[in-house]
Amino acid sequence: MLYQSTRGGNDRQTAAQVITRGIAGDGGLYVPESIPRLTAEDIDMLIDTPYPERAAYTMGLFLDGYGKDEILDYTRAAYATPKFDDPAVAPLYKLGKGTFFLELWHGPTCAFKDMALQVLPQLLTSAMRKTGVDREVCILVATSGDTGKAALEGFKDIPGTKIMVFYPRDGVSGVQKLQMTSQEGNNVGVVAVEGNFDDAQTGVKAIFADECFSRELSGSGYILSSANSINWGRLVPQIAYYVSSYCDLLAAEELKPGDKVNFCVPTGNFGNILAAYYALKMGLPIGKLICASNRNDVLTQFFGEGVYDKNRQFHTTASPSMDILVSSNLERLLFELSNKDGAAVSSYMEQLSSRGRYTVSPEFESAAGEVIAGGSCGEEDTFATIADTYNERRYLIDTHTAVAYKVLLDYRNRTGDDTPTIVVSTASPYKFCDSVLRALGKPADHDGAGLIDELADLTGCQPPGPLASLKGKTPRFTVSVDPSGMKAAVKGFLA
Ligand SMILES: *Cc1c(COP(=O)(O)O)cnc(C)c1O
Repeated sequence: MLYQSTRGGNDRQTAAQVITRGIAGDGGLYVPESIPRLTAEDIDMLIDTPYPERAAYTMGLFLDGYGKDEILDYTRAAYATPKFDDPAVAPLYKLGKGTFFLELWHGPTCAFKDMALQVLPQLLTSAMRKTGVDREVCILVATSGDTGKAALEGFKDIPGTKIMVFYPRDGVSGVQKLQMTSQEGNNVGVVAVEGNFDDAQTGVKAIFADECFSRELSGSGYILSSANSINWGRLVPQIAYYVSSYCDLLAAEELKPGDKVNFCVPTGNFGNILAAYYALKMGLPIGKLICASNRNDVLTQFFGEGVYDKNRQFHTTASPSMDILVSSNLERLLFELSNKDGAAVSSYMEQLSSRGRYTVSPEFESAAGEVIAGGSCGEEDTFATIADTYNERRYLIDTHTAVAYKVLLDYRNRTGDDTPTIVVSTASPYKFCDSVLRALGKPADHDGAGLIDELADLTGCQPPGPLASLKGKTPRFTVSVDPSGMKAAVKGFLA
């Protein structure tokens, strides 16, 4: 299986090549030329296997050139206990009839990004060997909070790699900040950017686009790569948990083979929900994908009206990993749903960068409407949903998951669709103690790691080990830079 660019260029690349390169030469994103099928027999065979087997099987369908045993080695190492604190790795929680939460935060950094970033370093370093790149790779990451920490944990002390993370100085929670600034490892760097997530992401993209800088780094033995969710190696491991959750519903006899399930996904950069879309295209029986946004509702407008318009105010919210105006991975959906029309995708992307908006064709709009429904949830509703879910069901959810759950409740009211639905739960509530405490009527006057104990005392729920141990850690990384200083920061890091 080969990969092509969403902007229609002619080059065809192997899985190892696209994972090494991250972004295509024409500025597009790599997508598979054809999508492998997952049959009912495949699903039946996976029901009785543990998570690493399910993941390796699903990933293997996309990763020609990687051995089956090789991938299984990686998934077994990535999703092992005690690194993951639940043997199911991605367990389902049943809240009530037809409503499930897929908990993707049992890994080392307590957010769903671990699902991909625990395995990406192995996929990437192997890809470099396969493609004959014998330089050290420097990973640059722009993060809205969770990716940064998950990438740091994934790449820390991996031979042949260095990693530098940029986060928006005032756009992440106190726990998230301390998680990153106290990161251990000999190949890591962490820098605060004086701006929002889009500023940080734009800065990283500019560094990647700077050929002169690449040549300079190449001379000193480095190549740059991205662990952001545009890398195909990030997406493939995410497809696996959609398949796995379906197997779990069959095993629990909540569904019969072939029955449809909906997924409701709290969305920012459109990576997580895109993985669900690929699972659907593979043949997993999915009814609707519900794309949940917070107050930054650019995607809700897009799926409602066919207009993508980033010319709007940016809001800093209690669900910072969704505070995004340019959802990079949407480009892949544009490509798939426009019948692989690279010229149309190029034109949309050109309009997005020149005018900040584009309008899709009516054909595209109706194709999107068949599979995806958008919805958004404001700040007060986010807090109320956390409180209601805890007070009525004693189930504690984080702000991102609350956005998704509220959007699902609204969707059901609006449409009457009663298909069993899995809400994708993307972070431990303990990552956002400040907001969760506020939602429960106990606002704190500071935002530090001490809040972990406060939340634990209030709810009697155990905080995950990696967060409980943050207390008393001192920051190792304290530098902050203006967006214009990011390149110099990378230079300094690699010097
Ligand atoms: C990254 C993240 C999201 C958004 O995921 P995308 O793949 O960017 O759409 C949602 N919730 C949490 C907790 C995250 O870390």
